[in-house]
Amino acid sequence: MERRTMFKNIGMAGLATALPLTSSLAGGRVVHNDMLRVDKHPYHRFALGDLELTIVTDGKLTMQPVQPSFAPGVAADAVQALLRDNFRSTDKIELGMNILVIRKGRQVILVDAGAGTLFGPGSGWLPQSLVDAGFALNEVSDVVLTHAHPDHMGGLLRKDGSLVFPNAQVYLSQAEQDFWMAPLQDFSRSKYGDIKSLQPMIAGIKKNIQAQGKRLHFLDYSKSLLGCIRLHLAPGHTPGHTLVEIFSGSEKLLHIADLVHSDVLLFPHPEWGFYGDTDFKQAVTTRRTVLAALAASRTKVLAYHLPWPGLGHVRTKEEAFEWVADSFATPYAAIPHKGEPGMKHEC
Ligand SMILES: [Zn+2]
Repeated sequence: MERRTMFKNIGMAGLATALPLTSSLAGGRVVHNDMLRVDKHPYHRFALGDLELTIVTDGKLTMQPVQPSFAPGVAADAVQALLRDNFRSTDKIELGMNILVIRKGRQVILVDAGAGTLFGPGSGWLPQSLVDAGFALNEVSDVVLTHAHPDHMGGLLRKDGSLVFPNAQVYLSQAEQDFWMAPLQDFSRSKYGDIKSLQPMIAGIKKNIQAQGKRLHFLDYSKSLLGCIRLHLAPGHTPGHTLVEIFSGSEKLLHIADLVHSDVLLFPHPEWGFYGDTDFKQAVTTRRTVLAALAASRTKVLAYHLPWPGLGHVRTKEEAFEWVADSFATPYAAIPHKGEPGMKHEC
């Protein structure tokens, strides 16, 4: 498929009728995969203090080839060797989309909303995944967005432009809204080649932000949000890219959004970077700073795009870092669901 056509499809933001074979993730190349046929989407549920946390899947995005989406400008031999050393494919990287669902009393809070209909049937699974995990779409009370890229915000709208979560308030950084809603975006510090080709994606983001109307609220970094969230601006990937800290009592979990898109490449080499970063150098600096802080504090982390369910810790290794994924004895949820499954489900 022609590049221009791919971007056009993405830019339709929820209105696309034909699915492209490939599409753009802010400049990177995404190859569409088929929807997996399963009876129920699995989920991972655990307690954080008094909160019930559940991770559900929105599917995956397959980035193929690996470069230049990852490590643009880095010698191919070095990238291939690191992938091989980690027993990974050398021709593609699959990005998971791990959606965090927080239940706090009657509130059901999502951190990001997935890709919706923008990237084909290999993604956009969030509505079904929520129902399979015991949530009704109309009980989602709040959606906290880490940034406005289509694989995080696209899932707020159906194909016909209507709202997937009709009762939800939506929260986004003002820096993010200001950047995307401006007449022109500054991509001069990115690794994007053809900036013109991003226009349909930008149009789609504008349309999505506008569709939120009065339910859109700006993040306040000086206050906690919804009694269980603190926000940390971490610019680079986008100007308003925000890390979401979930807390209850003395326990906390840091959702690192798009700070890191690959466990095996970007922990040992944060400087190799990601093509989709709006400010490539700033993203590298932010990545290093945050990873160092997480390693020092031994904080529990949730990463949106790392392999399912994206939970783990960061530790230092030589001059850089490594990802230590949590492991689980069984695929079953660690705690029972507090909701009332079957009461008001719709999908
Ligand atoms: Zn992303």
